[in-house]
Amino acid sequence: MEQPNPFKIAQAQLDEAAKYLKLDSATHAMLREPMRELHVLIPVRMDSGEVKVFKGFRVQYNDARGPTKGGIRFHPEETIDTVRALAAWMTWKTSLLDLPYGGGKGGIICNPEEMSERELEMLSRGYIRALGEFIGPEKDIPAPDVNTNPQVMAWMMDEFSKLRGYNTPGVITGKPIPLGGSLGRLDATARGGMYVLREAAKLMGIELKNAKVAIQGYGNVGSFAHKLVSELFGAKVIGIGDVEGAIYCEHGFDYDTISKNMKKPGIVPKDLPGSKFLGKGTEGNKELLELPVDILIPAAIENVITKENAPRIKAKIILELANGPTTPEADEILHNNGKFVIPDFLANAGGVTVSYFEWVQNITGYYWSLEEVHDKLDKKMTKAFNDVYALYKEKKVHPRLAAYLVAVQRVVEAMKLRGWV
Ligand code: NAD
Repeated sequence: MEQPNPFKIAQAQLDEAAKYLKLDSATHAMLREPMRELHVLIPVRMDSGEVKVFKGFRVQYNDARGPTKGGIRFHPEETIDTVRALAAWMTWKTSLLDLPYGGGKGGIICNPEEMSERELEMLSRGYIRALGEFIGPEKDIPAPDVNTNPQVMAWMMDEFSKLRGYNTPGVITGKPIPLGGSLGRLDATARGGMYVLREAAKLMGIELKNAKVAIQGYGNVGSFAHKLVSELFGAKVIGIGDVEGAIYCEHGFDYDTISKNMKKPGIVPKDLPGSKFLGKGTEGNKELLELPVDILIPAAIENVITKENAPRIKAKIILELANGPTTPEADEILHNNGKFVIPDFLANAGGVTVSYFEWVQNITGYYWSLEEVHDKLDKKMTKAFNDVYALYKEKKVHPRLAAYLVAVQRVVEAMKLRGWV
């Protein structure tokens, strides 16, 4: 089946908000496409001695509210339209969290699984040289995303600092702690999700202790979601899926047991005692999404909840830690079935919020304790959730539209104040 184009989805979501906000055509046009994007070629001498040329992108979607901010993905099926969509979603996310940023995103078409550490380093450094002054702490600040990590950020920061001629930690976030990374960054996306889940459950009268949870994706985000939903609330994760398949355990999986038995990052063991294998790849994941749970946490890839499976989703709350997991048709179905979707750009905004904290610490040169980071993150996430929930109640629209209305309105206000539209 052909995958829906994520950028078309992002545009359709904006169009709905634009209609609701009665945006004039120039304002709408400014928000429908990226303001700037750069396509680069990155030659890398591979371990074999051969030179391989990789394609990379960096999209700066809108910078009315401040420098653009967004992750870099390494993926064999990366497309410019995926990067554009993700950059648009970053614009709404930073606005929704009221961070002084616009939205951006980057990507390189590559398969990191087939590359050595040296080849990945050369690719990361080559990408930064190709971007040159297109990025910078006051201009566009990348971060980790799918298949990139603090080590990749360290190489990129180092390369940028060499280009500038002085140490520039604020050019990139998600760095290792000794290079100016913030405490609390590693689990920030999942932790931020937990704070909004807590608020949603409170308002919906759902007891999180012993609540049943299914998580799709067990990478940076999904694995911490398992840890935190158990630690903070005592919820039970009864289903987990990854790219290779899905597993089920009626009594709930123990986080430490899974971590100890993982052989590859992002891939959970499929043969733990007391667990049931739901099936390989897409088949297993299909079943996972429809499990009888209270909370469903998509934390893997786009377009997994569609009009086909949405009517069979049983979870009361869908916490979208992945970007773009639900299609617009599925949103309507879930809303009409009384499900509460905490939309991606609210649910997974913890990562960019702590990224913002990291950038503030880099720029001021003053570093915060873990408690300070958690406390500030909780306040930001709770405030953003309440902004969305108030509009959701007032306008009786689905939560994603409510979130769009808050976020788009703020970007429009900044564009108008600047005199752009
Ligand atoms: P990751 O690469 O660390 O992990 C991805 C996980 O998804 C792995 O367990 C992988 O096996 C699984 N997966 C991949 N394809 C799948 C498929 N077809 N079916 C089922 N599972 C599949 O990535 P991550 O950093 O955890 O990011 C996951 C999602 O969260 C992405 O949508 C990303 O854009 C979003 N996100 C990440 C961050 C962050 O801070 N890392 C922040 C915001 C949003």
